[in-house]
Amino acid sequence: MGNYTVAALPGDGIGPEITDVALRVLDRVTGIVPGLRVSVDPHDAGAERWRRTGVAMPEETFAACEAADAILMGAIGLPDARHPDGREVNGDVIFRLRFALDLFAGIRPVRSLPGVPATLAGQAPIDYVVVRENVEGLYASRAGGTNVRGEVATDTIVITANGTRKVSEIAFGLARKRHGRPLDGRRMVTCVDKANVLSSYAFFRSVFDQVADASTDVERDHVYVDAMTAFQVLRPDHFDVVVAENMFGDIISDLAAATVGGLGLAASADVGHEHGMFQPAHGSAPDIAGRNLANPTAMVLSTAMMLDWLGERHDDKAALDAASKIDAATLRVLADGTAVTADLGGAATCTQMGEAILAALDEGA
Ligand code: ATP
Repeated sequence: MGNYTVAALPGDGIGPEITDVALRVLDRVTGIVPGLRVSVDPHDAGAERWRRTGVAMPEETFAACEAADAILMGAIGLPDARHPDGREVNGDVIFRLRFALDLFAGIRPVRSLPGVPATLAGQAPIDYVVVRENVEGLYASRAGGTNVRGEVATDTIVITANGTRKVSEIAFGLARKRHGRPLDGRRMVTCVDKANVLSSYAFFRSVFDQVADASTDVERDHVYVDAMTAFQVLRPDHFDVVVAENMFGDIISDLAAATVGGLGLAASADVGHEHGMFQPAHGSAPDIAGRNLANPTAMVLSTAMMLDWLGERHDDKAALDAASKIDAATLRVLADGTAVTADLGGAATCTQMGEAILAALDEGA
């Protein structure tokens, strides 16, 4: 195949700055890897658009995302862009795409990166992946909970056998195919839950166990979420692939990002069986927006994840090759440390760090 259409949504805050870097990297890699063509279709969506027009994502943009081979997103949302009921406008884009395109698995790699000072003292290298169930769990009802006379509020957790099975299968599939990993050679999926307290989490675990029963080539592991937060700090090298319900996955993946250098480095993918959306784990960072200060690494590594996903999906060596070239070029810039942004202690602008990644790509990283 090797010929893909990508819907790009730069979005708000630092989104356009980091997307600009990512698109230049994408353009450059297609010039380096024979047989890879990517046509990028940019769309205006997000909180700024909502402020201007009252609509965060027009229907034609949704249709373009649905029709594209992949979606590449910068950052959507601004803290004060809210509907009258208090909901953030970013849900009109991110949640809409997640639910309508059934992007049921949120995938966040967590790995020690060269040149990035370790957050945790004296630890072995970290290399695991968090797979978060993205469309069910405690966030399923979103603003649909109840509030009785301002005295009592409830939300309902939703766990289905089908949703849990699908996300568990993605986790076991990832454990099976991670290239050259895990570092200790043990392929393992850890189910994170609170099965000892809530029957919904016990159900999540029982469905996970059914998938594990059918995956004899990969070890299974169970950890309660409270213990998980301690293990992520004290023995993170234990983990390979971790799967969790929506809210738990949200929390443990942010903690995970903090243990390997922070949000500016954390790539992420939201995938389903038919569609994939790739964006950094961080938000629009309005505090540094418009000043060319943002670290483009998470965005560039998310772009590499997109090419990797396309490559796996279409059995396309060119896309897989492009993904590993981007990854290697980015890691080289981080390891070198002379062209990194302020969050990593450097003095480079977002653009300059992007240029260093392009140069590393040219040099074959
Ligand atoms: P959201 O709720 O939209 O996910 P958030 O509350 O997690 O957003 P972010 O926008 O991710 O907040 O920003 C959190 C902090 O991390 C801010 O201080 C921001 O400047 C910093 N930050 C986020 N992304 C980057 C980046 N790419 N480069 C440098 N700093 C960043």
